[in-house]
Amino acid sequence: MEGIVIKSTGSWYLVQTQERNFYNCKIRGRFKTKGIQSTNPIAVGDEVSFSKEKEDGMGVINSIHPRRNYLIRKATKLSSRSHIIASNIDYAIIVISLAFPRTSSGFIDRFLITAEAYHIPSILVFNKIDLNDSEIENQMNEWMEIYQKIGYNCLALSAKTGEGVDALKKLIQNKTNLFSGHSGVGKSALINSIQPGLQLKTSIVSLSTEKGTHTTTFAEMHPLDFGGYIIDTPGIKGFGLIDFEPEEVPKYFLEFGKYASKCKFTNCSHTHEPNCAVINAVNNSEIAQSRYNNYLAIINDDYFSEKPY
Ligand code: GDP
Ligand code: ZN
Repeated sequence: MEGIVIKSTGSWYLVQTQERNFYNCKIRGRFKTKGIQSTNPIAVGDEVSFSKEKEDGMGVINSIHPRRNYLIRKATKLSSRSHIIASNIDYAIIVISLAFPRTSSGFIDRFLITAEAYHIPSILVFNKIDLNDSEIENQMNEWMEIYQKIGYNCLALSAKTGEGVDALKKLIQNKTNLFSGHSGVGKSALINSIQPGLQLKTSIVSLSTEKGTHTTTFAEMHPLDFGGYIIDTPGIKGFGLIDFEPEEVPKYFLEFGKYASKCKFTNCSHTHEPNCAVINAVNNSEIAQSRYNNYLAIINDDYFSEKPY
């Protein structure tokens, strides 16, 4: 049988099949996953093959399908081993509020490049549009244009009035979704508007440079009534805790790509080099100034140079 692991306790796993049946499963003996040295052989989100055991009704997981992506972090501060938080995530959804509290474009760009590094497509959700005055409305339209041009899906909605929520539901239907955004932007309100009654534990990853506490709580996937899942990641504070080298950052600013290949130097950092096609594109307004400023801030600040573990 085939299914998706939607909950893990470390010793057994809850697997949901496509027919929406649930099975408690174990793994038998040594279970090897290729490539990563992780403390957990199976993570929430994993697609697995399993067989039903006659005796106790439990299932036994026989194999795991290749992961399309995964969130990972070091198991403990000094460990070389890692803990896989969740895998096969379809969308990292950043909830943004431009009224109050105000999400900065720096926060958005850090989130987006982190998601790129994890190979997870992002959706930008501008919440609280019921509070938009004309100034915020203009700003929102400007930002939506910037990010849509890069290729990101952007939605404007109000968790409070429900306006625009159906469009988001359509997008996330039958997908595995991770909601994120800093405190107060309306994640809980939005999730409740998507599926009333769905209570996440800590709801949700908020991207931060805080050195998160190293609790080993397990993530969980909550099925949506209309199909798909929302991932809950209790105890996980930082989505941004990933080992980046500053040299890698330009490739996660997706719109830099087509210019970067035309820079005079192949290892151009797009900061001071002569004949830098990225800087030229910024000067021609082909690349948004805000994106370039955030790029400079990111490669210069200790967010990447300081290793969190
Ligand atoms: P979270 O910390 O991201 O989970 O944010 P909450 O869902 O707790 O929302 C924070 C505050 O913003 C609460 O007072 C909500 O009622 C309010 N809020 C959330 N969404 C909206 C919205 O679309 N419009 C308005 N006006 N307020 C909202
Ligand atoms: Zn350059």
